[in-house]
Amino acid sequence: MMKTKIALGALLMAFALAPAGAAKKTQKHGKAASTAKAGKTAKKKGAAAPKAAQGPAVAAAAAPAAKPAVSERRQDKAMDTLSGQFLTALWRIDPESAIAAGKYDNAATLSIPDQAGRAKQLAFIDDWLARFGKIDARQLSDKQRTDLALLSNKLNADRWYLTTFREFEWNPANYNIAGSLDFILNTEYAAQPQRLRTLLKRIAGVPQYYAAARESIATPTREHTQLAVAQSAGVLTVLGDLDRAAQASILTPAEKQLYTQRIAAARTAVNGYAAWLGELDKSMEQGGARPFRIGKELYEQKFGYDIQSGSSAEQTYQKALSAREQLLQNMDKLSDELWAKTMGEAAKPSDRNQKIGMVIDKLSSKHVARADFFPEIRRQIPLLQDWVSSHNLLTMDPKKPLVVRETPLYQRGVAGASIEAPGPYRPQDRTYYNVTPLDSETAEQAESNLREYNHWILQILNIHEAIPGHYTQLVYANKSPSIVKSIFGNGAMIEGWAVYGERMMLESGYGDNAPEMWLMYSKWNLRSVTNTILDYSVHVLGMKKEEAIDLLTKQAFQTPREASEKWRRVQLTSVQLTSYFSGYSEIMELREQRKQALGSKFVLKDFHEQFLSYGSAPVRVIKELMQ
Ligand code: ZN
Ligand code: ZN
Repeated sequence: MMKTKIALGALLMAFALAPAGAAKKTQKHGKAASTAKAGKTAKKKGAAAPKAAQGPAVAAAAAPAAKPAVSERRQDKAMDTLSGQFLTALWRIDPESAIAAGKYDNAATLSIPDQAGRAKQLAFIDDWLARFGKIDARQLSDKQRTDLALLSNKLNADRWYLTTFREFEWNPANYNIAGSLDFILNTEYAAQPQRLRTLLKRIAGVPQYYAAARESIATPTREHTQLAVAQSAGVLTVLGDLDRAAQASILTPAEKQLYTQRIAAARTAVNGYAAWLGELDKSMEQGGARPFRIGKELYEQKFGYDIQSGSSAEQTYQKALSAREQLLQNMDKLSDELWAKTMGEAAKPSDRNQKIGMVIDKLSSKHVARADFFPEIRRQIPLLQDWVSSHNLLTMDPKKPLVVRETPLYQRGVAGASIEAPGPYRPQDRTYYNVTPLDSETAEQAESNLREYNHWILQILNIHEAIPGHYTQLVYANKSPSIVKSIFGNGAMIEGWAVYGERMMLESGYGDNAPEMWLMYSKWNLRSVTNTILDYSVHVLGMKKEEAIDLLTKQAFQTPREASEKWRRVQLTSVQLTSYFSGYSEIMELREQRKQALGSKFVLKDFHEQFLSYGSAPVRVIKELMQ
């Protein structure tokens, strides 16, 4: 998983979802209708001019035949100008998205989520759809074409979220002021007094904000209602932090007094909202709530906008079912191979899943000591880098070493590891590999995490998050700097690449082809596959909790805690869980097609470098460009 420094709302949700120390999986839950990801996905801009990685042959193939070069440049320029204007306008109409992207010009303005605001948003969307509609995609070069595809999708998705999905009516957790406050308070984009003055203006609108929220909610789901109530405690914590920071600052006595008043009014508004939701929830005990399952029709549409796959949700679900069977067959063989070595004389159960589960359980006891968790991760990164270079998988840039560090305290909450890249407007910031040490965990929690991130899985985690996974993909994306892609990049491509990277490393012989490594890899991969099966089964096919828990624990070898967290997540989000497998399976298919097309001329390294050269575009768009 790639942690784009998620908005606190999501982080709070993770708190609510997972006991501290429930390693990994920092979720990027529920994206707001008006924005793509919360900002910090992007990168150092201006690193090297677009490299000739595409090669002239590819560029020519991707472009329509008789295309005058001059008009191409003119169209590209027109597109770049238009997307620049669009972003400027977007940040003005949507200060919260701007903040998440690292743009603080309008941070003093809190958007009020009322009907008038939504009408304004809709008009904005239609205006920009019309403007981008005038651009002829066939006249653009690859970079601009993929930018246009992403922007059109973003606008159409926003329109759909506002008019069809209408989360503002049924998801009370959508209303949360904490994320932006946290960003402004904790990002040093300006001196602290200036940021505090911005926040003082911003919090003036909080009572109006929650009044508009109540006005907007029609028939919520009980699950999201209860989540919003649980999150209100976290919102109050952020308000408390803010108050303390203000009172301890160099603001004037008058400003400090105004702070006290506004914080008090904000607390009252948050408490009032939570109390109102609590009543609402109670009133729905006997029925009348909206079901959390979104159903087939909405699911397919949402999948189309969020994943941007070449396949439908149903086709992807079918692919996941057969991928799972393949994995299990393999794991069956590997468990037989490992049985005597791991289980000795123990009787082998006839049930396939039971047998696999026993071998995995046994192997999981091989893990680093608690104190070595962080040092071991740090030790592995240069080894992975060397492996990728010496096995001709990708060209690595030695000038961009990854900084492994302990996760800053204020960002902790979900243990594990994640890549944190600077937002597109903070190119001077470094990219970090944040690792949360196990210091604050009980012995039991730490042991459970260490078993999960055992000798083999820890390596796979580093491959996924860092090299050649998320970090490497970012470095490549930065060679063709696109602010559009860094803000609206395709999540399925990004996650799909990291999942693909795991397999590609093992195929290259990393881990000595040991059956233990392949078995653990398969368990890990089965998680992505099962996420897709679970999400579709629950939202479209009506799968019940007991079946879901069985699917996760007995058929995917997850711990009861992991399974119940996942059940919670699938009730509160939809479609996002499919992004890993969807992206991965499309990349695998594309690689196969390229092998068929190129025959003996297929070179794995070239495939990887060309694939990554387009930036974080949807795989189906990259596929078109690679033909
Ligand atoms: Zn990831
Ligand atoms: Zn142990």
